[in-house]
Amino acid sequence: MKLTFCGAAGTTTGSKHLLEVNGQRILLDCGLFQGPRAESIERNSHFPFDPQGIETVVLSHAHIDHSGNLPHLCRLGFKGNIYATPATRDLCSIMLPDAAHIHEHDIAWLNKHRKRDDLPLLETKFTRMDAEACITQFITVGYRRPLPIAKGVSLTFLDAGHVLGSAQVLLDIEEFASGQRRRLLFSGDVGRPGSDLLNDPEPSENVDILIMESTYGGRHHELATDSSDHLCRIVREIQQRRSRLIIPAFAVERTQQLLYTLDKLRHENCIAAVPTFVDSPLAVKATEIFRLHVNELRPSAAQSMFMRDDPFGFDGLRLIRSVDESKGLNKVKAPAIIISASGMAESGRILHHLRQQVSRPENIILFVGYCADHTLGWRLREGHKKVNILGDEFEVKAQIETLDSFSGHADHNELLQYFDRVQGSKKQVFLVHGETTRSQALAEALKERHQTGEVRVAKPLEQVSLLEARPRAGA
Ligand SMILES: [Zn+2]
Ligand SMILES: [Zn+2]
Repeated sequence: MKLTFCGAAGTTTGSKHLLEVNGQRILLDCGLFQGPRAESIERNSHFPFDPQGIETVVLSHAHIDHSGNLPHLCRLGFKGNIYATPATRDLCSIMLPDAAHIHEHDIAWLNKHRKRDDLPLLETKFTRMDAEACITQFITVGYRRPLPIAKGVSLTFLDAGHVLGSAQVLLDIEEFASGQRRRLLFSGDVGRPGSDLLNDPEPSENVDILIMESTYGGRHHELATDSSDHLCRIVREIQQRRSRLIIPAFAVERTQQLLYTLDKLRHENCIAAVPTFVDSPLAVKATEIFRLHVNELRPSAAQSMFMRDDPFGFDGLRLIRSVDESKGLNKVKAPAIIISASGMAESGRILHHLRQQVSRPENIILFVGYCADHTLGWRLREGHKKVNILGDEFEVKAQIETLDSFSGHADHNELLQYFDRVQGSKKQVFLVHGETTRSQALAEALKERHQTGEVRVAKPLEQVSLLEARPRAGA
């Protein structure tokens, strides 16, 4: 029984781990590497294995860094099943075509430059058609419903509390040659406990081998309760100033979480009603999918869907699809809240809103998520006084605020709590999905509390044997 870390080792994107057992190859996640455009296209173009030789894919959740290379895998001849929860499948049905659209756009942009420099043109690796076709290979499995997925391998999904439909992947494996049975848990991305909208990550037992994310190893987040107070203060300010609050937000999860919190604050009479606009076609579709899967949300959130109208459709909320309506938002009366993608303000309709609003001192621009270095979002967060937006320079006069506690990822202490709730020998622990320094910070803390098993940071393309596990020397 072997495991190869084919992505998200030493970095946070491109999640892909290959499990080989009983002559079968099972792929855990098939995500896109996300980084600078040309490097990403290069790294996502090749798989370090033969796609046709893969038996089955198990998908932890819909985020593109976990699912985005599935259309490419299918186009190259993968014919097997893709196991996912029902909400993950539904989110993929909108997110994968969107990712394909961005990929086609990126290739066209690079080819324009390559043509000018007389370089050979790049090929599109997958299209929206491939994305839609690959959805037909999905088999959905609810949480806690064990299902045989390959010879000697049974799959159970457990809630990971990270995004709607997100799962930890529990595999009960019997290796026929040795007769050994092992239980492997792949954490997927681990959410924060105490979220308003999602359940806490579920505990598990009898785990022998753990593959665990480490995005925020060594880092600490603000408490989730503080985020509601902070948002409340900001909304009151724009109401008093009769100005605009512009929120660049990821279309899936972050937008719905904001809507849920805004609705809750209104119901608690912390804020008065403010006209609120969600201006992102993907966010509008994702919000509909949230409504379809109410039962997978935290019971209190599901209940509030019945008790307090609809948190994703409250009075004064408008979901904007068309470009004309989006343009019309420039004229909308203040106070108003505009939530638009992308979260890092690198692309999408948010750029048009920032062009209009960034130089007005009465406005507030609020960042609620991670912004990669050198993106427009990062520049604004870093306090740059002049920024370039779609080719023109603008002075930054609006007030810039950040609210990091909306993070979908557990911080250092929450990862330790999660680790403790994974019960069992945990003889082998592999840390993935983290920059190396973050993974190492978590590894140090885990080694201290886990003397009876091996804890190591996975290296890119490293292959490990899962049956030759030995306790660490001296343990
Ligand atoms: Zn994720
Ligand atoms: Zn991830």
